[in-house]
Amino acid sequence: MAEKLKLDIVTPHGHVFNDDVDEIVASGSEGEFGVLPEHVPFLTTLKIGMLTYKKGSETGIFFISSGYAEVGPDKVTILADSAEKSDHIDIERAKAAMKRAEERLKQAEKFDEARATAALERAITRIHVAEKK
Ligand code: ATP
Repeated sequence: MAEKLKLDIVTPHGHVFNDDVDEIVASGSEGEFGVLPEHVPFLTTLKIGMLTYKKGSETGIFFISSGYAEVGPDKVTILADSAEKSDHIDIERAKAAMKRAEERLKQAEKFDEARATAALERAITRIHVAEKK
């Protein structure tokens, strides 16, 4: 029986994380889900949110933009548009992105509202995740 889970986080910008962990909690489109070794395989879409893993006494926290999670009995692969570990998030950049998105939402006739809403959600979630480090 597998005792560990391989967690692999990949984005178009490169490999963000690859290690054996004990458990994972991620933000699926249908809600948060947890994975332990020997989980039933499934595939799900991810929403903008947080992913945490535990490895012994260590906890890792990531910001994950939308993407996919493929869960197997001994491996979880995350394919995300972007992903950053909490201590790699530039809070000032996220605050600037939040302000920019808020300004755009005030001028909805000039900007794509769905795009600005998603940018705002990414920025707010990055700030939230960075504060957890
Ligand atoms: P911004 O407007 O600041 O670029 P964004 O939400 O549009 O924010 P993304 O398209 O999600 O940015 O990401 C583009 C790249 O920049 C990715 O590699 C992502 O990891 C990185 N990135 C974006 N914002 C931050 C941040 N606040 N801290 C660290 N890396 C970031």
